[in-house]
Formats: sequence, structure tokens, C-alpha cells
Amino acid sequence: ARLNIALGQRSYDILVEAGALAQIAGHIAPWTRRGRTLWISDSHVAAHHWPRIEAQLASAGVEAHLHIVPAGEASKSWSELAHLIDWLLAMGVERSDTIFALGGGMIGDLTGFAASIVKRGCDFVQVPTTLLAQVDSSVGGKTAINTTAGKNLVGTFHQPKFVLIDPQVLGTLPSREMRAGYAEVVKYGLIDDAPFFDWCEANGRAVLAQDCASLEHAIVTSVAAKARIVGEDERETKDRRALLNLGHTFGHALEADTGFGERLLHGEAVGVGMVLALRYSARRGLCETRDADRVAAHLAACAMPVTLADAGVTADGNALVDHMRHDKKMSGGTLPFLLLRGIGSTFVAHDVELDDVAQFLDEQHRVA
Ligand code: NAD
Ligand code: ZN
Repeated sequence: ARLNIALGQRSYDILVEAGALAQIAGHIAPWTRRGRTLWISDSHVAAHHWPRIEAQLASAGVEAHLHIVPAGEASKSWSELAHLIDWLLAMGVERSDTIFALGGGMIGDLTGFAASIVKRGCDFVQVPTTLLAQVDSSVGGKTAINTTAGKNLVGTFHQPKFVLIDPQVLGTLPSREMRAGYAEVVKYGLIDDAPFFDWCEANGRAVLAQDCASLEHAIVTSVAAKARIVGEDERETKDRRALLNLGHTFGHALEADTGFGERLLHGEAVGVGMVLALRYSARRGLCETRDADRVAAHLAACAMPVTLADAGVTADGNALVDHMRHDKKMSGGTLPFLLLRGIGSTFVAHDVELDDVAQFLDEQHRVA
């Protein structure tokens, strides 16, 4: 499937096609006219996939240069950004060059940021290799690095020129990473597509087993939803793009408590966070408890954590809410919260009291 994200002059295509990487030279031909390409990848991805891609490009007469970043979230840093930019400059990068990001969200965010500032901005293309990056981070143009003050606090909006998604590249992805990315797939059903959540309940296991047709349907539906929402609110100035943060405020607090990526993967935190958003919504009488139970049952059936205890979180409500107070969406003492009127009906609530959330989280510790 070929999708398009409508952003005026910044519009671009997203190609989802099994086996696309085997024909990569043809797919990226519009960006290789100068005969030379600059690639950024991480150590894991490069070991698995670079030899094949390099050979493909070589046989098409395209020169390919690769910079390898150490795998792991810690590389979304000032120092790796500096190494990357020094490498680009040493390669004689010009404004007319296109930079290719081959990897998960870490590589996509870091490369996108570098591309947005080197020579005051170069084009870049995303070739996402994790399910999370394919359904979420490669589309939408948010780039970032982490600093000691927190995650994703420094970055830019810089849209790629093209996104090439080959579901087959996920064949080498560890299954835990696959499940974590799947939580973001389920997210699109919960945001505004109840029939898609029904589909996930019936097909989630097939997606995780990488059944070709199911996986492709999950990716295409997710990307189409993300492209539509970003097209309506590119810079998150309305409440529209904020819907994509469903489960993320709770999730972020869980990630902060468990040391970002050390015990809980981002997607796992988002999965628990979405269940908490539903339970909190039910507690406020906005939706039914059975909606929360249904989502928890589906994620649990997919071997994902769904409670604070599953997530290994022991911090009390106040400590968790303290992490939320550092959220970059916090403004004027309040934090917008994504709540649900039911599966497929998410909205932004601006009247949530953090003290009430702390109390709710303490209750969640008691029921678990
Ligand atoms: P990641 O890029 O760190 O990849 C996870 C792990 O999988 C790494 O060890 C990586 O080396 C490995 N890997 C990647 N592809 C592989 C493959 N095909 N085979 C084998 N191993 C592979 O993490 P992620 O989950 O893809 O992305 C998380 C990052 O994305 C976070 O930094 C987060 O902030 C960011 N993010 C950004 C946005 C956005 O809109 N820009 C949205 C969501 C998340
Ligand atoms: Zn996320």
C-alpha cells in the first residue's frame, strides 16, 4: 500500500510493502540521483540488514556510506548527535544530499534531528525497522534527543521526504520489542477506531506471529490513522495530535519510575498506561469498567503487562504523579489527560487534578 500524508509542501508518501527492502534501490531512486547516499543505523540493525542493503545499492550503482550508532536509547544524546553531525560534515554533506535513517525510533529521532540542523536542514528518508517505528515514530516529523533533564526535551519538527516500510525487516526483531510496538497499534483502535480494536482482538496473535497479511493490515491501518491525525494538526497546537499520546502520561511516569527502558520498554509502559487511562475514565463514570477489562484482557493475552504490579512499579501515587509534573505538556500547573468515553472514543481532558490521579494510582496498587 502507498499512503500519503497531506501537509501541503511537506507532504510525502509512506510505502508499506513486504519485501520492499530487496528492491530498495528502485524505491529510493528519486533521492539517489547524485549517485551517493548517506546512511545512519545502529549496531544491531546494521549487523542484521546492512550487508543486503549495501549489496542491493551497489548493484544499482549507488554509492552508500554508513555511520553506525551504538544500539540503545542512551544514544539519543548530545554526544551521539555531535558524532553523527561531525561524520556528515566529514563526508562533505551538502544541502542537496538525502540522509537515510535505517533503524528503530532511536535512529529515526536522532537522524531526523541531525538532518534538520546540519547545513540548516537536509532532506531525510525513514526506513523504520521496529514495529514501533513503522506504526508511529517514522511518520509525523517529530525529532528529538534526551538530556539529563528528561526524554525528548530537545528536538525539532522535520518531516521526512519518504517513509519505506518493509514488514519483513521485523523478522529479526526480538519478540518483546514486537509486543511493545503492538501496544501502539492497539492505541489507534482505542483513539477513534473501535472496529479496528475488534480486529486486533481477533488478529493480534497473528500480527505478533508476523503472519504477513495480518501484520501488513495492522501497519497500514496504524500509519493511515497517524497520517490523518498529523495531517490535521502537524505541530500539536490543537488537541488533535495530542490524542496520539493516549496512555503516554501514565506510561511516562511508569517509565520514569523503572528507569527508561531498563525494566519496561516504552510500548509496554504505554500498554499499561492505556489500561490505567481506561480505568481512571471508568472511575470518573466516563466509560464502563468492562471497556478497561476488555483492553487489559487483550494485552494480557498477548503476553504484555497490564497492571502496576505486572510493570514492576512499586512507587506510590504521589511519587508517580511527581514524574508527571515534569511532563513537557504541563502548563500553568495542569496537565492535559487523555481519557476515554469508551473504546474508540478518546478525548483531551483539561480538568484532571493530579492529586486525584495520585489517589487513583494508590487504589490501583491495592486492587493488583
Ligand atoms: P529502538 O530504536 O531503540 O529499537 C529497539 C531495539 O531493537 C534496539 O536494540 C535496536 O537495535 C533493535 N532493532 C531495531 N530494529 C531491529 C531489527 N529489525 N532487528 C533486530 N533488532 C532491531 O527503539 P524503538 O522502540 O524503535 O523506538 C523508541 C524510540 O522512539 C524512543 O526514543 C522514543 O522516544 C521514540 N519515539 C519517537 C516518536 C516520534 O514521533 N518521533 C514516537 C514514538 C517513539
Ligand atoms: Zn509511544
